[in-house]
Amino acid sequence: MLTVENVTKRFGGFEALKGVSLTVERGEAVAIIGSSGSGKSTLLRCINDLERVSSGRIVIDGDTLVETVDGAVKYPPEKELRRICMKTGMVFQQFNLFPHLTCLENITIAPLQILKQNRADAIANADRLLRLVGLENKADSYPAMLSGGQQQRVAIARALAIDPQIMLFDEPTSALDPELTAEVTSVIAKLAQQDITMLIVTHEMEFARTVADRILFFEDGEIIAGGSAAEFFESQQNDRIKRFLSGFQ
Ligand code: ADP
Ligand code: MG
Repeated sequence: MLTVENVTKRFGGFEALKGVSLTVERGEAVAIIGSSGSGKSTLLRCINDLERVSSGRIVIDGDTLVETVDGAVKYPPEKELRRICMKTGMVFQQFNLFPHLTCLENITIAPLQILKQNRADAIANADRLLRLVGLENKADSYPAMLSGGQQQRVAIARALAIDPQIMLFDEPTSALDPELTAEVTSVIAKLAQQDITMLIVTHEMEFARTVADRILFFEDGEIIAGGSAAEFFESQQNDRIKRFLSGFQ
């Protein structure tokens, strides 16, 4: 579903991604863990075209978002690029809901305005998604009336509303206290059980261990270790990973 090949990203002279390669198969939930500043958000932002890569290749559901040919980075024309980006649904640490729109309107805005769905279908789908995240009674509420956990669940429903092929989560619970974290992680776990393909940056080790099929460990702009969740957490391959994980005990 997703192939990232040898992606680099420089900000001026600083190399935030130093040749990252990974794949996510259809139906897989892959967790990215690693210290702050290791390039995790930058990678997700490159996959969702919020940043442009410096080199490398990204293929989403068979469509090439970017490739590098003879040293030249090639992106498709704007319209094609927007179409490919609609295959990914992104959920951020700060929920980024539109404050002046109700929950229902937040969820239906992209389906109506970008996908040109008809109103009845968009609303029916939004109602289904609100039930999926356990907020069927909040359709007409404004974000400010909701807890952070509820807002993030609306943001997840909004990302799902464009029917993405892969969901990208960037520390979806880092802005939440433990109780609200649990309500959001249980929604994401439910999506994983439904075989929704996802790449999740998280600091929730228990969540990563129990929900992710695979773990990738980032350090200084590189993936330095990875494997099945069981392998990764049991073997704790090297000292750097041990040191990182000991911060979460
Ligand atoms: P993480 O999500 O793992 O905490 P980030 O991907 O946000 O890390 O950042 C990786 C590195 O790139 C950091 O050193 C950060 O300061 C730097 N960085 C990120 N975005 C920018 C930017 N727009 N301009 C300059 N440096 C950036
Ligand atoms: Mg980050």
